[in-house]
Amino acid sequence: MTTLATTNPAWERWLSTRSTVRAARDMQRVDTSRETLFDLASNDYLGLGSHPQVRHGAINAVCSAGAGAGASRVAGGTWQVHRELEAALAGYTGRSQALVFSSGYTANLGVLGALGGPGSLMLLDAHAHASLIDGAKLSGAAVQYFEHNNLDALRTLLAANATSAAPKPRVLVAAESIYSVLGDAAPLRELAVLCAQFDALLLVDEAHSLAAVPGGSALKSAGLAQAGHVLATATLSKALGSQGGAVLLGGAGAPLWREHLLNTARTFIFDTALAPATAAAAHAALDLATEARIGQLAANAQLIRTVLGAQDQLASRIQADAGAVQSVLMQSAQQAVQAAAELREQGIAVSCFRPPSVPDGISRLRLTAHAGHEQDELASALAAVARTIRKVEA
Ligand code: PMP
Repeated sequence: MTTLATTNPAWERWLSTRSTVRAARDMQRVDTSRETLFDLASNDYLGLGSHPQVRHGAINAVCSAGAGAGASRVAGGTWQVHRELEAALAGYTGRSQALVFSSGYTANLGVLGALGGPGSLMLLDAHAHASLIDGAKLSGAAVQYFEHNNLDALRTLLAANATSAAPKPRVLVAAESIYSVLGDAAPLRELAVLCAQFDALLLVDEAHSLAAVPGGSALKSAGLAQAGHVLATATLSKALGSQGGAVLLGGAGAPLWREHLLNTARTFIFDTALAPATAAAAHAALDLATEARIGQLAANAQLIRTVLGAQDQLASRIQADAGAVQSVLMQSAQQAVQAAAELREQGIAVSCFRPPSVPDGISRLRLTAHAGHEQDELASALAAVARTIRKVEA
């Protein structure tokens, strides 16, 4: 092992207990997966990251605006492409307003930071993404977690706050429309009703549903695009194949929420704006994220669920019921790593989630559907996945 160039050995001892080095080694192995492997790992669900119109959108923006935005959105870094992208995102999702951030991560940090502080309580689904957890913690709000997708558990926490001696007057519930690791869907309508009953805001992270579920947005399909007490975030880095994030707002209060975020979201104010080329690429991708493409994605996602669900040893270990993500619970982190490595040898890229990304005991292989896969090729890749899992678990 290389030694750290520091006179304090405590750093070295501490580092040796961390997984940083191991994660970096893993990263080197996956960098070419999109070109050379059958891709069941990337989040470029519609294959738009490499679409000629998306490439040209980016190239044209580089030619007209240059490589970087040059400054934060509020300090001269707002370009026409940002405004156009915001209008397009609002239109696509049926919301009234959108605000573009430099990533989905910073969108979540920004919106939660702008809504937190003393007097607020944030209730997060136990499977909420790290960016929601970090945003809630950084916001200064009191933070509690409820069992994944369990409305009764959430109701208990909401009721406990309402009847406590010193209730937090501002409550926000955070969930994902499609969960990033499990791939299952949140009961959005029920969550929205429950939040309304307790006068709470609902924040829905649409990272894995924007342009990836029929209708293009899970909130829109649930009839909640204009629900004023429902805020949404999304990333432009998954089905749109680009990079960046957004907050999406609907209902009569949308302009006021947007104004508040513009003035208080620290990751909006103190972060350099999304590069114009990236914004233009996302906009071009949005124009291509048609129902026809999403339909192909849905058919391939369904094939993954059907094939894996038909395997005796896997049926009880998969959870997804919507969207493009499917994951298989593995018996150990080591077997998950081994299965992913063996599949790689066979030319198939799948993701492996194991500590520290997930708690001990729930390591998973994660497969993502892609609109561009031919169903017969997908079926034989899935047969290899099932065979390989059986082999490493034998
Ligand atoms: N939310 C969820 C649910 C995600 O899966 C991700 C990406 N892993 C993010 C937010 C962050 O998005 P980005 O990669 O654009 O920062």
